[in-house]
Amino acid sequence: VDCALQPNGAMGSAALHFLVSKPCCAQPCGRSGDDECSFRVAWSINPHMQVGAVRPHRAVSQHSRFVRTLRALGATVQLLPFVHGAYDSVFSKDNAVLVQRPDGRVEALLARPRHAERHSEQNARATAYAALGITTNDDAGAHLEGGDVVVLDGARHAFLGYGFRSEGGARRGLARFLDCDVTCLELRDPRLYHLDMALSILDDGTAVVCPDALSPRAMRALERHPLVRSLVHVPIGEALAFGVNLVQLRDTVITAATATTMARALRARGYAVKRVFLDQFHLAGGSAACLVSRVHVQAHEVSARSPRSSPGQRFVATSPTAAILSTSA
Ligand SMILES: [Zn+2]
Repeated sequence: VDCALQPNGAMGSAALHFLVSKPCCAQPCGRSGDDECSFRVAWSINPHMQVGAVRPHRAVSQHSRFVRTLRALGATVQLLPFVHGAYDSVFSKDNAVLVQRPDGRVEALLARPRHAERHSEQNARATAYAALGITTNDDAGAHLEGGDVVVLDGARHAFLGYGFRSEGGARRGLARFLDCDVTCLELRDPRLYHLDMALSILDDGTAVVCPDALSPRAMRALERHPLVRSLVHVPIGEALAFGVNLVQLRDTVITAATATTMARALRARGYAVKRVFLDQFHLAGGSAACLVSRVHVQAHEVSARSPRSSPGQRFVATSPTAAILSTSA
């Protein structure tokens, strides 16, 4: 399997723009230890991790099929280099929260990972973002991991999971960065240690949630939130099989789980549910959502504190819940 960095496509459909890490180094990598050049499980920082369980070649082939599926469904996928020896860097969602501003610029709020095993990823990621023209911001203010951040369509609101990895203290920095309100949700099951294993919110406001993973107070906050239109309750077994850790591409939902309750409910709402195979990544505690860092398009009016619009661009509201960036003639 070819792990050379392929040329990145131009930024296309902004609403389906993902940054994905390669699962292995380009060869020759030039650093010592060939076995450090590929995704594997070499330590255990979550209950899913079984040291030595991953078959790297199988992981690489599952990963390239996953990327092909994203592209076939219309996503723009930009590949980031694998961080040699930092195996969890494949879970690129965790490294930063990404947003495209109304003037088209993409900015990254860098994560502050809880575990030392993930610290070395951050410098490499900041360098890779800069190479793509992405401005980086290090103002999270507390532990923050991308897997704990669920951003609603248009970046109109975000939820921040805390309890295992991120801290509530990151709420303010995240809200300032996204220019929207952020609601903190407490996680209570260490096996579902990131919010994106317990909650996914589709663009139409459908919340796919495992109630057993959230504190009662967090569930109430979610149920009462005005931007959450309906809830799909996913049983704990399906959440542990990564049934909530999904990726939405318009009317298709990609999952690596056999999650019949989730799939039935989403099909009833008009979604196609597409299965991919990512079991090698499940051995490290991640699945489809963890492998992609979505560039969230900030669609709301720019607040006075962040006057970023350039004169050639304006917003065109297409529906109460969606707006697209248009370049005026
Ligand atoms: Zn290497």
